[in-house]
Amino acid sequence: MLVKFNDLLKQFQIHKEEYEQKIKDIMESGYYILGNEVKYFEEEFARYIGSKYCVGLASGLDALIIAFRALGISEGDEVIVQSNTYIASVMGISINGATPVFVEPNEYYNIDSSKIEEKINSKTKAILVVHLYGQASNMKAIQELCDKYNLYLIEDCAQSHGAKYDGKMTGTFGDIGCFSFYPSKNLGAFGDAGAIVTSNEKIADKVKILRNYGSEKRYYNKFVGYNSRLDEIQAGLLRVKLKYLNEIEIEKSKIVDRYLNEINNPKVILPKIENNCTHVWHLFVLQVEERDTFMEYLKKNGIESIIHYPIPPHLSEAYAYLGYKKGSFNIAENYSDKVVSIPLFIGMKDEEVSYIIKIINEY
Ligand SMILES: *Cc1c(COP(=O)(O)O)cnc(C)c1O
Repeated sequence: MLVKFNDLLKQFQIHKEEYEQKIKDIMESGYYILGNEVKYFEEEFARYIGSKYCVGLASGLDALIIAFRALGISEGDEVIVQSNTYIASVMGISINGATPVFVEPNEYYNIDSSKIEEKINSKTKAILVVHLYGQASNMKAIQELCDKYNLYLIEDCAQSHGAKYDGKMTGTFGDIGCFSFYPSKNLGAFGDAGAIVTSNEKIADKVKILRNYGSEKRYYNKFVGYNSRLDEIQAGLLRVKLKYLNEIEIEKSKIVDRYLNEINNPKVILPKIENNCTHVWHLFVLQVEERDTFMEYLKKNGIESIIHYPIPPHLSEAYAYLGYKKGSFNIAENYSDKVVSIPLFIGMKDEEVSYIIKIINEY
């Protein structure tokens, strides 16, 4: 049997007519940038998250870049972020001229809040929390630190649409929540798209201005801004998908329940879920010693797997200038040597899930 890592076509096919009708309507409306679809998507997504405002943007990376920019974080400032995140989180900080300060993750792959305080100094301006792989981080201690040291709190929710800590959605704990709607994310568009959510009107207004060349009124520019507008077609398609996000999460969690209950090979470490945190399973990540052998074995049996992520940001070429070496962040490095994600997508067949479980248990 052949099992792909992901198959985005299936998600489209389930609601094909609705997506096609939406595209047709937008094409025929004659309005393609910053029209009603964006406006309605922003209202609907803000309501879904439980935030006052949402501003649609061109990508998740743009959401991060513009979030730090809107808060005035720049050269000379430091931002705390976990050492095992996807590199976009770090780029959102460093593109603004600020310095990322890494903190090791805990056993849930999220930031270890007990290791944050020792990294705070007079240059520290913010903490960027990444709800990695789809699991909400434990926000209590982090929020307390932000209050104690007067730091901004930004959440990278690119993988955690709908995940909750203590009953509250990720994206609502900090000053700004940043979302990506990259096609493979749980709420995925059919191209690039992103957004920020916030309950602070001033921040929302500033982000709206920044996304459109820094202008509030056409041809009157307040800031040097960006072109980072969410387009009408992506917004319209996201409105359709948002209606089914709950369904997507339920279907994924059913597959995950089987993985968690039925994979019982002692060579494979399963993901753990922290108390009071929910997981929306953007990715299902295992840990295996001798990962290459394991991945080769899966491949030989027709199962695709992917590493998220093989190189932690501090060791990537892009961040050589920060001067870190192998051994600087042992926990993140250890994860990057051992983690491997297995197929988990909408439209996966029961036989495929059973087959993956069987092959892994026979390893
Ligand atoms: C996908 C992702 C991003 C970037 O989103 P894009 O839409 O691809 O720019 C940022 N952070 C994390 C954690 C991500 O997974």
